[in-house]
Formats: sequence, structure tokens, C-alpha cells
Amino acid sequence: MKARKLLMIPGPIEFEPAVMQTMAVPTPSHVAPNFIETFGRALELMREVWCAPSGQPFAIAGTGTLAMDMAAANLTENGDPVLVVSTGYFGERYAEILRRYGAAVDVLSAPPGETVSLDQVEHQLKQKAYKLMTFTHVDTSTAVLNDARAFGELGGKYGVLTVLDGVCSVAGEEIRQEQWGLDVVLTASQKAVGVPPGLALMVVSQKALAAFRNRQTPVCNYYADWGNWLPIMEAYENRKPAYFGTPAVNLIMALQTSLDLIVQEGMDARFRRHRQTGTAVRAALKAMGLNAIPSGDAWSANTLSAPYFPEGVNGGELLGHISAAGVILAGGLLPSLKTRYFRIGHMGAVNRSDVLATVGAVESGLRKCGFPVESGAGLNAAQQVLDTE
Ligand code: PMP
Repeated sequence: MKARKLLMIPGPIEFEPAVMQTMAVPTPSHVAPNFIETFGRALELMREVWCAPSGQPFAIAGTGTLAMDMAAANLTENGDPVLVVSTGYFGERYAEILRRYGAAVDVLSAPPGETVSLDQVEHQLKQKAYKLMTFTHVDTSTAVLNDARAFGELGGKYGVLTVLDGVCSVAGEEIRQEQWGLDVVLTASQKAVGVPPGLALMVVSQKALAAFRNRQTPVCNYYADWGNWLPIMEAYENRKPAYFGTPAVNLIMALQTSLDLIVQEGMDARFRRHRQTGTAVRAALKAMGLNAIPSGDAWSANTLSAPYFPEGVNGGELLGHISAAGVILAGGLLPSLKTRYFRIGHMGAVNRSDVLATVGAVESGLRKCGFPVESGAGLNAAQQVLDTE
């Protein structure tokens, strides 16, 4: 029997075998011609996956938090007014990062499971001339999905730079960075992009680069300074060697492999597949009698789900049964609700069998905890969605 359990948390996710093979290749020099070609190609592919043909890609060793940090460090100066729209844990983190750089931060927060209404955001943008607005596409603590296109439009209308934290969405949820007018779309490698943890990834619009170049004061973070990294990204894309900090060579090679697979699938097909997967998991949870944190389907993420433990069910016991059935899920993250819910990641390479195995494990776990679930209820609901074209 295979000993490995299915990892269905919201990152790190299950990776494609080809990506893992690339991780195991003997590490070449960071200036070897074949690596320069691979890095250059990875940057080109980022533009395709982000749907940002004239954006500037950055792929830097670090995590998603570094990507957040970089956008904040490079686009704000002391006293700059910034609006943070928060739908959970990572929105609050963004406010904290921005304050470190001296930004004058206003936060609009939604209660758990809700979004901040676009009217409220627009009302706020009318009150003050913000330089920057950040929002979380999918907050991984609540599974709430924001309308990225509408935020891009509002940014354009009010002349505010927009930063989308897409750590739990890029290459899963639909994003058309350039068409939607989003200035920075950032993520980390370990989620829907499909590469082990260790890369901070972002694509920056020409408008945001111009704002960066117009700074009056130096960037207050040496490693994060785009001025240090821009020549490196440009050099690799022009197939020339360059050095600022040693790239995470195997991770960059794995990135190229994964982005290649993503582009082969096609962005439209990939967005559609994630929508179908998300709908299937939501239908299954509902059929098993579970409520999720997002209060409406229209703002429920397709990359992860966040169901509450049902009344009378011990969360630790349920996750234990699910793990014994071969599926690893995540506990809660939002401090105010932490022990009351769990999280299922369903992004990237996740396939139909993974979804059904997960739903089956949740179903039998619930029964073992004494919660009445009709046999096959979740599986039937998921299959019905997965069987539609
Ligand atoms: N933003 C969101 C929406 C995330 O889900 C995460 C990670 N779970 C982060 C930021 C931070 O990324 P990392 O853990 O890679 O630093």
C-alpha cells in the first residue's frame, strides 16, 4: 500500500512529478548557459500566466511574505497614504508590513466570511488621495474571494496603484492583470503556481515601475529593493549572466517546468478547472451538512474551502480520522475562529481523484465522530459537478 498521504492543505500543495524531478537535478552554476536560458524562459512564462504582456516579472528567493514586503517597500515612502482592504489574516499582515515602512495606513476590514463592499471601498477612495491600495484576492484564512477586476477598475478611476495579494490565487483563480489594470500581482511558489516553497513571485506594471523610479527617498530594505533586482531580471531575460544575490537555482528550474505545464493547459482552461473543482468541493460540503466561512457562493474561493466543524464534532478528532484515511487537511488560521473550522486546499495539480478521495475521507471522518451523514452524499454531490462539461 502506498504510504504517502494526499496533501490537501492550502499550500504547499501536491506538485507535478515533472516539477519534483527538476528539483532533484544536480544544481548547475547560476550563470551556466542552460540555467540562464531556463531563468529567462521562466520570466517570459510568468507574463503569460499573469496575463500581463508588458509587466515586469520578478522571481526572488523568499516566500510570499517577501513578495508583499517588496511591493510595500518599493511603492511607499514615509507618510504615504495607503488603503488596505482586509478580508482576513493576510490583510491584517499587509497593514503591519506597510506601517513598518512608515505608510499612513487606513484599513477597511470585513467581518469573517464577508467582503468589504465595493461601494465602501469607492467611498473611501473619494475621501482621500491614496497612493496605493492593497487587497487579498483569496484570503487563505477565510476562503473569501475578492473581485479583482473591480478593484483594478477602482484603482484606475481614482489614480491609485493596486497591489493584489494573489498568494492563494495566481494560476488558479482568474486574473487578467493587464486588462484589469492591476499594478502588482504577487504570489509564492508553493500554491497554485505548483513549485515547492521558496520563491517570491510578482509581476509589476509599467505604471508601478514609474512610481518606483519617481521615489524621493531610497527603498528602506536592501534585499527587497527593485533597483537591485531589476537589472538581474532584465539580464536573464536577455539571456545574459548577472548577479545580485544567488538565485534559488533548482526552484527557478522547477518554476520553468511548472509554468510550462500551466501554459500548456491554457489559462482559460485552468481558470475553468479551478472553478469546477471549487464548486464540486462546496457542493460536497453542503451535501454533508457543513457550513463554510464565506457567507455566499459569489465570494467563495475556488482554490480552497473553509468549512466549520459541525456542532458537537471535535475538530482535532475529525482531522485525525481524515488523516488516518490518508488525507492531510489544515486547521483554522483566523485567530477569532481558529478552533472552529478547517481548511481544504484544492488548487494547482489537484485532480478529480484527489477531490473524491478528500470528500470520501471527510465523509467517513464525520461518521466516525458520530455526525450523521448519509452514505455517499458528499461524493454524489461532487461527482455531479465534476461530471458536467
Ligand atoms: N498571502 C496569502 C493570501 C497567503 O495565503 C499566504 C501564505 N499562506 C501569504 C500571503 C504569505 O505567504 P508565505 O507563507 O509564503 O510567506
